[in-house]
Amino acid sequence: MHLTAEAVHGRAQERLPEISLATVYNTLNELVAMGEVLEVPAGGGAKRYDPNAHLAHQHLVCTRCGELRDVFPAGETALSLDADDRHGYEVTAVRIVFEGVCPSCREAGAA
Ligand SMILES: [Zn+2]
Ligand SMILES: [Zn+2]
Repeated sequence: MHLTAEAVHGRAQERLPEISLATVYNTLNELVAMGEVLEVPAGGGAKRYDPNAHLAHQHLVCTRCGELRDVFPAGETALSLDADDRHGYEVTAVRIVFEGVCPSCREAGAA
């Protein structure tokens, strides 16, 4: 489940009709800072929020409709940088986004 802030806001309003979008953004930012929620860059679309923060995974995104799925790539996913390429950074995470066209978009395209 990867919701945009607007979608989280919509859901929150079902319980708390007065809640503002700003409150939702602030809460999401706090959760991201605490490491409870991941921010997922979604191929140019609105940022998504991912509650699956404690399980290492990567993302597959449809470049047409923006559908986003969790994927667990097989094989060597621990990409590493040589010291020279690290520019003095301490690298703490690698994010991989696989981009492509989902089955429903492919069907729509073929029709
Ligand atoms: Zn699609
Ligand atoms: Zn995810």
